[in-house]
Amino acid sequence: MNKEFLFEMLRTGSVDGNEAELEKKIFDYMQDKADEVTVDEMGNVTAVVNPSSPFKVLLAGHADEIGLIVSAVGDDGSLMVRKIGGVNVGTYPGHKVRIYTDKGIIYGAVANSREISGNKDLDASGLRIDIGATDRAEAMKYVQLGDTVTFDTDVRELLNDRITGRALDDRVGAYIVMEAIAEAKKRGASVGCYGVTTTGEETTGNGAYFTASRVRPDIAVAVDVTYTSDNCGISIAESGDISLGKGPVLCNNPTVHKKLNACLRSCAEKLGMNLQTEAASGRTGTDGDTIHLTGIGVPFALVSIPLRYMHNPAEVGSLRDIQECIDLLAEFLTDCSQDMDLRPF
Ligand SMILES: [Zn+2]
Repeated sequence: MNKEFLFEMLRTGSVDGNEAELEKKIFDYMQDKADEVTVDEMGNVTAVVNPSSPFKVLLAGHADEIGLIVSAVGDDGSLMVRKIGGVNVGTYPGHKVRIYTDKGIIYGAVANSREISGNKDLDASGLRIDIGATDRAEAMKYVQLGDTVTFDTDVRELLNDRITGRALDDRVGAYIVMEAIAEAKKRGASVGCYGVTTTGEETTGNGAYFTASRVRPDIAVAVDVTYTSDNCGISIAESGDISLGKGPVLCNNPTVHKKLNACLRSCAEKLGMNLQTEAASGRTGTDGDTIHLTGIGVPFALVSIPLRYMHNPAEVGSLRDIQECIDLLAEFLTDCSQDMDLRPF
């Protein structure tokens, strides 16, 4: 595993609409690892192995992260914000943040007090970011409305091959997809292997739509994160019995394709790898939903990485799970053949 590049990805800001810096790093990283690497107008990077093959398998992991967007500046020079994606507003007060501006990153502190941190109804309009400016005019020299904001955090290694950082959701998935494509090339996969790091998953799903509409895959696997139930009182009924470090998670729901799940299971068996299972009642809440409904319809599976504290400044994931996801998907790509018959009967 290229931990250095994974951590570089996790340190890079990629709030929806502002994914270009991260996508460019992925684009450069994949140059010598695939047959073809492209970027489209939205910034989706697609790495392809066997571009002339008529049977196309698309792996998708989203490169965007949740965050805030600057919506106004107060007379006192503090920034007001709105949410981008499923932000838990209560996680922001008292934290350092980065504002991604045209002139580079500037730093801020999110105002906090006993009153703010005790406010259970705090919403984004109640947040104020102090960038040190003394009035509105000074702040506006540095910041534009529409600039994006993330926590000012780093990636750290924990015990037992675990890591913590912000927005492992889903930059670990984006990393996995690209490493699986690189590995499929090394192993001589015969089908068309397309790996995309999508933009916009946390808001509109536009990246997945652009990519799948253009690639027109025969099958797809979305790679995202999922809640664990091994801590913090998250119920098994809600999340399934999912633990960190116990392997990739397959989703069972009405839209995920059972034969693709069976293929993934047999790949895991071959590798002697443990898989976990989660159930969803309808939409998966991932790029898989979007890809599924493009073109004439795309059968898909969802492979997830167990994740603690999703959408918090310090999410926790397992490097072991990440490596197993890469191995599983590389095996799957190598196993796929163009005579796969996915009809249920
Ligand atoms: Zn996600």
